[in-house]
Amino acid sequence: MTRAEAVSGQKPMSKVANLTLRQADKAVKNYLRRQPYTEEGLKRIPCRQCGAPSEHQWHLRPCAIGRYAWYGLCKEHDLELNRIVMEFMKVDGRERLLSEYAERDAA
Ligand SMILES: [Zn+2]
Repeated sequence: MTRAEAVSGQKPMSKVANLTLRQADKAVKNYLRRQPYTEEGLKRIPCRQCGAPSEHQWHLRPCAIGRYAWYGLCKEHDLELNRIVMEFMKVDGRERLLSEYAERDAA
């Protein structure tokens, strides 16, 4: 999403339609964040899945985007994404690793 798209609303993204330029800049910046969030800042970022305050962040580089970006997720969705990735990649020992991670994260 470019700033122009966010401002013009050419893409049907109701959340970014009718934004001021400043709000659109912020929306684009948060959409593909280049720097990790601080611990305090992360709490103000809604989870990408459910909108709850984020507790974890992922540094991902989907080939379709072509560069790294930081994404915030709540505890529940961080665990879900861990599970999805580890299942998809058939990581050895994933069930044990996931349950250990869930216990560690709950503490
Ligand atoms: Zn969530």
